[in-house]
Amino acid sequence: MKLELQIHPLKDWFPNYSKPGLIAGPCSAESEEQMLETAKSIATFYPNAIFRAGIWKPRTRPNTFEGIGDIGLEWMKLVKQQTGLLTATEVATADHVEKCLKAGIDILWIGARTTVNPFSVQAIADALKGIDIPVFVKNPIYPDFQLWAGALERVNNAGIKKIAAIHRGFHSYDNGPFRNSPKWELAIELKASCPELPVFCDPSHIGGTPELIPYLSQKAMDMDMDGLMIETHRNPSVALSDAKQQITPFELKEIISDLQIRSASIENLELQSKLDELRSVIQKLDNELLELLAKRMAVSTQIGEYKRDNNVTILQVAHWKKLIEDSLTNAQSLSLPKDFIKGLYQLIHDESIRRQTDVMNKIIKK
Ligand code: PEP
Ligand code: MN
Repeated sequence: MKLELQIHPLKDWFPNYSKPGLIAGPCSAESEEQMLETAKSIATFYPNAIFRAGIWKPRTRPNTFEGIGDIGLEWMKLVKQQTGLLTATEVATADHVEKCLKAGIDILWIGARTTVNPFSVQAIADALKGIDIPVFVKNPIYPDFQLWAGALERVNNAGIKKIAAIHRGFHSYDNGPFRNSPKWELAIELKASCPELPVFCDPSHIGGTPELIPYLSQKAMDMDMDGLMIETHRNPSVALSDAKQQITPFELKEIISDLQIRSASIENLELQSKLDELRSVIQKLDNELLELLAKRMAVSTQIGEYKRDNNVTILQVAHWKKLIEDSLTNAQSLSLPKDFIKGLYQLIHDESIRRQTDVMNKIIKK
């Protein structure tokens, strides 16, 4: 579905924008010294960064640090005065918006736990009517594309045109090595439905650990994302929230300087024609894959008919387990990653079962 947004490009409002736009700073504001020390270090190597710090923290469980509160806004002012960095924080209510505007916070973001709730997003959007301030919208914690798009629309409908999205990963019961499963396909879908919308990546909340941040940041750049939000703390081990994933300003500097920024457009004609050639090979193979899938599904339907006529259940667990095991062994010898093939087979199997259920229930005529 197309996402129609009225957008001011990043270069009109992000300080001296060049890729990657960087938002860095601690998960939470904790003390004046923590804020100033962290911000000053960041400003030495990235003076165009936006300084982030959570003032009110939407923690999943109570009795954890829920943010320093209003006093943190005063520290944000000091950061801006002493480093020149623009400041950003998370807002979850209309009251937060009002306080931020009063304190001169430059940029706001809506967090993942708020994006899931259209009432909260609308209340924030209403509080923003008539105000010219950039707003970032994080993806909702659950992988629901429409909630993300809807939150962007609500903010945009309130007249906010300096708008961008942040991809911070999604809660899922199978996160693999990540704290939040990246599900890059949702960020890609967002770019595809609204190519002019800037999209940042938050590798801190996706990875949940410093070791994954370089890989995720590079991947975000290779997905042609516009910037990064990275949690940075002068001393991560004593952080009051998200201690496990924050990095020091020095580590941030290294990660940013190691990034390869590749171009999204190809000017070299020779390169372009080689790429076109390879793409046409892929297209041909994709067509063959589709034809094969259609053939496979036709056989599934036949099996469904056979099971129906002989009163046999659709799912025969032992058979399915053996099939998946054999396929995974085959995949291994073809150097195809196990998780990828497992996921693919899951989809194929779901569709086979759907067809056979239809056949059993005579939705598909013999
Ligand atoms: C944060 O940025 O510290 C935060 C709470 O993020 P998210 O909303 O992505 O969980
Ligand atoms: Mn955090």
